[in-house]
This record gives sequence, C-alpha cells and structure tokens, in this order.
Amino acid sequence: MRIIVQKYGGSSLADTEKIKKIAQKIVHEREQGFNVLVVVSAMGSTTNHLVEMAHEINPDPARRELDMLVTVGERISMALLSMAIQSLGHPAISFTGSQSGIITNASHTHARIIEIRPFRLLDELERGKIVIIAGFQGMSYNREITSLGRGGSDTTAVAMAAALDAERCDIYSDVDGVYSADPRVVLSARKLDKISYEEMMLLAKHGAVVLNADAVEFARRRGIALYTRASFGKDASGGTIIRRGQMTGDHVVSAVTHKNVWLVRWEGKAPGGPNLTAWTVEFGATVDYLIQDSDSTGLMVLDTSNLVCPKEQLFDLLVKKVKNAGIIRDLAMITVIGEGVLRPDVYECFMKHADDSVLTLATPLSLSVLVNRDKSPDLLIAIHENCVEIVPTPEEKIKKSEKI
Ligand code: ADP
Ligand code: ASP
Ligand code: MG
Repeated sequence: MRIIVQKYGGSSLADTEKIKKIAQKIVHEREQGFNVLVVVSAMGSTTNHLVEMAHEINPDPARRELDMLVTVGERISMALLSMAIQSLGHPAISFTGSQSGIITNASHTHARIIEIRPFRLLDELERGKIVIIAGFQGMSYNREITSLGRGGSDTTAVAMAAALDAERCDIYSDVDGVYSADPRVVLSARKLDKISYEEMMLLAKHGAVVLNADAVEFARRRGIALYTRASFGKDASGGTIIRRGQMTGDHVVSAVTHKNVWLVRWEGKAPGGPNLTAWTVEFGATVDYLIQDSDSTGLMVLDTSNLVCPKEQLFDLLVKKVKNAGIIRDLAMITVIGEGVLRPDVYECFMKHADDSVLTLATPLSLSVLVNRDKSPDLLIAIHENCVEIVPTPEEKIKKSEKI
C-alpha cells in the first residue's frame, strides 16, 4: 500500500462548506491511487470555546474531565468529513484516537504518545476506504481518554505517518507554508521553500504555531518528511518541505518569531527545586528557559499561551511558591532563528532595534529578547525588514554548501 497522511487544521474545517471542499481534495488524492489517512482538528475555534465553557463552570476543572470535553471537538470534524466523503460516493470511516490504537501516558491535557497499534486502520485502508481519525488525542494504558496539548493534531499526523510507514505527511493549513515571520503580522514575510528540522523546531517553540514543536521533534527522530501546504487557493501545491538532510535557504537568519511570555525572577536558590517545572506543566504553562546563578538569582521564562486554568491562578501559585518573586506578565519574546544569528552584524542589528529589552537570551541557532508586549508588532516588522533579510557572504555560502 502507498499510504499518505494528510492533516487538516481547524481553520480548514471551520464550516460545512469548507468540510465539503476538503472532502473533494481528499477524494482527488485517493483517485491518484494513494491510500489516504486523514487526521483532523476541531472546527474553527471549537477547542477554545470548549475550554472557555469548562472555566465558566469551574475555574479549576479536573484535568480528566477537561480531556473528555476537548477531545469531542475533533470527533465532530471526523464524523462530518467522513459523511462528506461518503456523499461523494467514496467509502470512508472515522475513528477516535482510542479506536485508532493511539496509546499515551496518563498525563491529562499534555499526554505523550507511547505506542500506536494501527491494526484497525490498516484493515480499513486495505479495504480501500479513506480513513479519518481525530487528532490531538489517545488513550492511556488504564483506558482513560487523554489529549496531547494544544496544536497536538500535528503530532497525531506525524506519529501516524511513522506507524503506517507512510510516503508523506502533509500538514494543510490556512497558510501555504512556513514563512520568515508570521505572515499575518509581517506582510512582507517570505515563504521558505525548505527548512531544517532543527530550525523548524526552534521556530515552533518560539511562537510559529504553523507546526507543533513536538510534532517536528517526532518527525526528526523518525525521519518523516513534512510538507506544509495551504488547504485552499492556487498555491495549494508548493509549500515548505522539512526533511532529513535539509538545509535551510539562502539567508543568514531564517525567520523571526514572537510569542507572549511571563518572566519570573527570584533571589536565592530555585524555589521548589525539581518541582518547579512540574507545577507549571500542570497548569499548561511551558518553561522555555530556567537560569539559576549558583546561589544569588534565578529566572524563568514561561510560555502561558495554552494554560488550562485562568491566568490569575498560575500567578497566585507563583507568588505563593516563589519567595520574593518578581513576575512580569505583559512581555513578548522576539526571536531570530538561523545559523547566522550570532554573526556580529546580525547581533548588532537585532540589539539596536531591541535596545530597551528586559532580557536577552542566545543559543547557537537563536537569539531572543523579552520586550514590552505592546512594542512587539512594530519591533517584529522592523527586525524582519532590517535583520532577517541579510544574505550570506560568498564564503559563508561555500561553507553552507559543503555541509550538504
Ligand atoms: P491550523 O488550524 O491549520 O492548525 P494554526 O493556526 O495552528 O493552523 O497555524 C497556522 C497559523 O500560523 C497561520 O495562520 C499564521 O498566522 C501562523 N504563523 C505564525 N508564524 C508563522 C510562520 N512563521 N509561518 C507561517 N505561519 C505562521
Ligand atoms: N484542536 C486542538 C487545538 O486547538 C488541536 C489542534 O488543533 O491541533 O489545539
Ligand atoms: Mg495548528
């Protein structure tokens, strides 16, 4: 069997008209001779809506019940899409994560896939059916329904591509690929034809939601080629390729990203020791950086964009647990990513624009600053225009081509 996995995001399935159009695309792919397994997200902003309702009922809902609730979104999409394909005269069948044999650990709201037993899916694919599965979910060993964290349908797609030994994994979205900045904010952002797993992971971790960071990491480990494409429009064929041995394009800096973060600072040793990161994970926050200077000061950069509780609750917990905590909540992290981010001209350009940053963080492939959130859009545009568009010197070009 020549299997391809396609994943459609929420914006591509936002209403029944869109679902019907996606059904036509899938049938077209099937008619090319491929066996098609489709992974779907919840329609439009259904997941946000479900989380909001949960919080209206209870500000701190049991994580198990939250998973029971949010996984419903994908179930709606899969059934509707299956009906749409059937009404075009093609056999189709939909499955939840647990029916698909996706086994996860027991960490509700941020579960990890442990193994996939795709026997039922393979049987149906062999019968020639188009198989549609609900993304973002699985079942733990003790048969509880789990969710994989926000944006987790990408991870389902990649894990399925590995389990089914698929030829390709296509991630369809409302953008036709990965851009040098969020194209909704920076209108002059350019599409990247190709990008390495490493850079894509950094982009995803630093705010480019077009792909989920866990999904990219999974794809890197299993050598799955990812193609990000637009669901609709004439550009639907040429997206961004992320695959093994792939070098990123011609620029010193590949992209600039942005996301909202909190900065927590303290005096003395790290509060709570190893429990510190565990607390925050339970709230749906991610520790992006944790720095502890032997015994004097420490700091932590927290991504709070996918909290499973109201923000106030995390804030209160941090105030309680971290003695003399200084917490700044209205910050944005702007990051440039690429092999040349520490080159003197790039560094100078970046720091000149972000001269009033609260914190600077550098790694060999990324350079970030934390700035006041209301400055973020203008700064992003300025940095994209001045620092991202730098092209490499002829010597750097030669070095890069030698690496391929
Ligand atoms: P889906 O619902 O299909 O999963 P997402 O909303 O998760 O789609 O991701 C697509 C969005 O990612 C785009 O609408 C775009 O605004 C945003 N985005 C942020 N950074 C980038 C980037 N560097 N390249 C492309 N899209 C980006
Ligand atoms: N519906 C889930 C979310 O909104 C999963 C996904 O879209 O990938 O996060
Ligand atoms: Mg997404």
